[in-house]
Amino acid sequence: MSNLIVNENRLWDDLMVTAEFGAKDGGVCRLTLGPEDKAVRDWFSGQCNALGLEMAVDEVGNMFALRKGRSDLPPIAMGSHLDTQPTGGRFDGILGVLAGLEVIRVLEDAGYVTEAPLMLVNWTNEEGSRFNPSMLGSGVYCGVHERSYADARQDEGGETFGDALEAIGYRGDRPAGSVELGAMFELHIEQGPILEAEGASIGIVQGVQGCRWYEVVLTGNSAHTGSTPMGMRQDALVAASHLVVAVQAMALAEEDAVGSVGFMEVLPNSTNVIPGVVRLNVDLRHPKDAVLDRMEASLQETVASLGVTAKITPISRTDAVEFDTECITSVRHAVSRLNMSARDIVSGAGHDAQHLAGHVPTTMIFVPSTNGLSHNPAEYTAPAECANGAQVLLEAVLDYDRRMSDPVSAP
Ligand SMILES: [Zn+2]
Repeated sequence: MSNLIVNENRLWDDLMVTAEFGAKDGGVCRLTLGPEDKAVRDWFSGQCNALGLEMAVDEVGNMFALRKGRSDLPPIAMGSHLDTQPTGGRFDGILGVLAGLEVIRVLEDAGYVTEAPLMLVNWTNEEGSRFNPSMLGSGVYCGVHERSYADARQDEGGETFGDALEAIGYRGDRPAGSVELGAMFELHIEQGPILEAEGASIGIVQGVQGCRWYEVVLTGNSAHTGSTPMGMRQDALVAASHLVVAVQAMALAEEDAVGSVGFMEVLPNSTNVIPGVVRLNVDLRHPKDAVLDRMEASLQETVASLGVTAKITPISRTDAVEFDTECITSVRHAVSRLNMSARDIVSGAGHDAQHLAGHVPTTMIFVPSTNGLSHNPAEYTAPAECANGAQVLLEAVLDYDRRMSDPVSAP
């Protein structure tokens, strides 16, 4: 274990300082590429300059602050995002950037130079609340989206992403994807209740679960409820009810699966008419695509067996992401050296790391969210919990640096 210790108060002070840029209702409203986003970017840039880091900004506004290493290996990156939801909190994304800043300060204070350079990253428009879709900056960086696609996104007032980026002066000169990274570690709040419920300080994130949505339309016969005998009905809602229960059963049958019907429309939705048409959406999620394939097959079989005319259409699909085993190993080493309570976890929410995982070795570290709250002004992670996350980030990055630069003698 290194004797490099993150400064809990300094990290907390930074979190509270940045929370002033767009402060609202105890939380933060800092929509991407607005004046508050410019203010926090300027602040961040100033902090990086003061540490002697070399700042590069790419053509979609992603910010990369480089700290040189002993070699010119591809840099090990830390970071996340500084934009928030309109009803955002003070920690979502921000912790990952500021913890990376704290790690670099600790190394700087100790005069510790890593073998590979380090890179601190702020990804543009992770939230997607002003410009759809979310994770846009990392998406362009990773080649998932074209720059022209990003530039053309419009907010509610019709302003484009490209114009907003120019207006705040953060259209950088580096082509997206041209800033090389060797690995990515993203510290983030869990945004869910699991770590808190289990009393674990750290979530060792294994990946991001896949998600598939289907629209199902069930068509029976609308008829009078009083004059149609039970044996002579084609009730679309009874069929839908069987489907809802079957979705629950198929999720319970697979470890770590979740399955829900959260939307349903019943036609004609009248007390004395047998429901003729039901339209509903099914949401299936699991960390492994192979399991989702199995659940999808089971869903199709069930839909076909309901005794009414049924049509199923896939409407959305995000594949599961598995994080890099070497990066995860470094997080495990960090947690065990620090003797922290930890559990493996899969992210239920989307993150920039999801795009990065298809591009460079990537993983995430979670810290608890009080009451599981996020995207809410009451979002809270205590100072010591934030510092725990930053300490694990520091140890994991140093472990990865040692093992990748000297695989023979490193543990
Ligand atoms: Zn986030």
